[in-house]
Amino acid sequence: MAEERGKNLYDVLGLGGNTGCSADELKRAYRKTALRTHPDKKHEEDASPGEEGRGGPQGQQNEAFLEVQRAWAILSDPEERYRYDEELLRGGAGDELEDVVPDKVVTLSEMSHDRGQGSYGFECRCGDTFLIFENEKPETGTSVLLPCCSCSLVLCVNNE
Ligand SMILES: [Zn+2]
Repeated sequence: MAEERGKNLYDVLGLGGNTGCSADELKRAYRKTALRTHPDKKHEEDASPGEEGRGGPQGQQNEAFLEVQRAWAILSDPEERYRYDEELLRGGAGDELEDVVPDKVVTLSEMSHDRGQGSYGFECRCGDTFLIFENEKPETGTSVLLPCCSCSLVLCVNNE
């Protein structure tokens, strides 16, 4: 689902999300993609043989080229890149769960422990049960978010 937000700037330069690449790699990737997407290929002096691409419809080409330019404008500036990387990290995988506000915070000891089933249960407001199994329980000192299987409520389970 997170992928729906679109390509990041590294993807635009064909780096496949390789955010840790060096400035040199970045430059090379930029040249390659800029060349490939250039609307009329005026800048062929930097072309390595065989990198000329096929040339698609003009409008589409133009857009791709502009996207590459935008990505490069940010990533070629170390300060801008640093800021962008930070943002990328913060917005990366897992942010959806962090945005969730739990309906309730309980400790493991407040949940009913079913030893036979090896699970901990806690009744949700909808009448269903939040269920967590022993092998999924949070380590001591941490907590996990437990979604209800019947409604959208989330329980925060603390292991103190
Ligand atoms: Zn529920």
